[in-house]
Amino acid sequence: MNRRDQGQGGYSRGRSDRRRVISGVSVTPRKSLGQNFLQDEEVARWIADQIKPDGVPFVVEIGPGVGALTKHLVGRPKHLLLVEKDTQLAAEQRAAWFDQPSVEVVEADATRIDMRPWYARGEVRAISNLPYSVGGEILRHLLTPPTPITEAVFMLQKEVCLRLSAPCGANEYGGLSVLVQQDWDVELLRIVPPEVFVPKPKVDSGVIRLRPRSPSALPVYDRLKFDRLVRLGFGQRRKQLKNLLPEAPGGWEAVAAALDKPTTMRAEELSLPQWVQLARWYEGRTTEDAGQKATEMFDVVDENNQVVEQLPRGEVHARGLRHRAVHIFVINPRGDIYLQRRSHLKDVAPLKWDSSAAGHLDVGESYAAAALRELHEELGIRVDETKLAVEVPADEGTDNEFVELRIAHHPGPVKVQPEEIHSGTWFTPELIDGWVAARPEDFAKGFVTCWRAFRRSLAP
Ligand code: SAM
Repeated sequence: MNRRDQGQGGYSRGRSDRRRVISGVSVTPRKSLGQNFLQDEEVARWIADQIKPDGVPFVVEIGPGVGALTKHLVGRPKHLLLVEKDTQLAAEQRAAWFDQPSVEVVEADATRIDMRPWYARGEVRAISNLPYSVGGEILRHLLTPPTPITEAVFMLQKEVCLRLSAPCGANEYGGLSVLVQQDWDVELLRIVPPEVFVPKPKVDSGVIRLRPRSPSALPVYDRLKFDRLVRLGFGQRRKQLKNLLPEAPGGWEAVAAALDKPTTMRAEELSLPQWVQLARWYEGRTTEDAGQKATEMFDVVDENNQVVEQLPRGEVHARGLRHRAVHIFVINPRGDIYLQRRSHLKDVAPLKWDSSAAGHLDVGESYAAAALRELHEELGIRVDETKLAVEVPADEGTDNEFVELRIAHHPGPVKVQPEEIHSGTWFTPELIDGWVAARPEDFAKGFVTCWRAFRRSLAP
């Protein structure tokens, strides 16, 4: 008896009923893996087309199954990665496409797959007829920032699609809508009936497209606090928010007035921007987001890194004068380095990837002191010391900054300051090497200079 005959499927009792030939493959669909295979060529072709795969660098398909979508994708992107958890189906796909150099098959669990190598590929498009069993978990893993995914087309239960794409005021609008839409614009593309699948699911399905929401569309906020408030607020939909959320700073009347809502407001009455405003209120963020101050004072230095005068930041940058900055690489016990994606509020290199923390020295400040300050301000971590790794001279590669690159050891977690940092995560040095070589444009220029100097300093 093979693995598939051991009753893991669960769609029907009779063994002979369960095994089917689907797209030329003899399979027993496994309910535990959400295996409802798409059988309609027109629908499959249409879904594949929605990701616009032609000529793009990298498409990943989650759960190719017996290849309903896959066969409409192969040969269209430069590289097609198929991620399948089912051992037999992964092997089937490997065999089916062995002569296609642009197709790669990995047997892996998409709820935990390591997406970090995908950054070096540039634009990453994801497509899937998601397994109902773990669709939510896969979505969370693939779509929570930071993620290399730049666009996605997914088929899921219709009801979930409606919730994901619901605007405020729709019946389906809820916590899931708010939590996903903070990062993604979600568009419902089509409803698909159960008849196009084998085995036939009990409910309709839907197809959605997700594109990243512009980070500047919302003011910044603490994501963890936001998530907590949204979950509490939508936890009991019928209850008024004032009875569900923690006591608001300044009192509930003040919050309601700031949101221009009655004090009796319920979770579903608040739009995404209003939820963000509410979360910011709890954080005490009452003023508008400000970028960096052009009036901040820097030490201006000569070609030997000797201080010659103090001038405001705006003038130092505008005139291209030499000044000082520190970059810090935070390394965890596994040897991974934390990289941050810069906030959209940065005047230089917004949304580019950068060192763990970096910043200018204040007037009269030492590099070592600036490093400790930046680690605390940007990442919320305190270390006793940082060690000098490399001194990088001021030139075009650092935008006229004399940089000290310093190393800090810390296991994490970090708590990012949203004005400074969009998101971040840990990378192996080898992965960063490959990414910097493939796509230097993804990084702030000063980081690339520092990284190359750092790697050279380690060479034997
Ligand atoms: N793409 C095929 C189609 O449209 O007919 C199959 C879709 S079927 C709904 C879901 C697929 O995801 C199955 O092939 C299943 O084995 C696979 N799968 C289930 N859980 C998975 C996971 N955690 N990671 C990767 N693939 C998974």
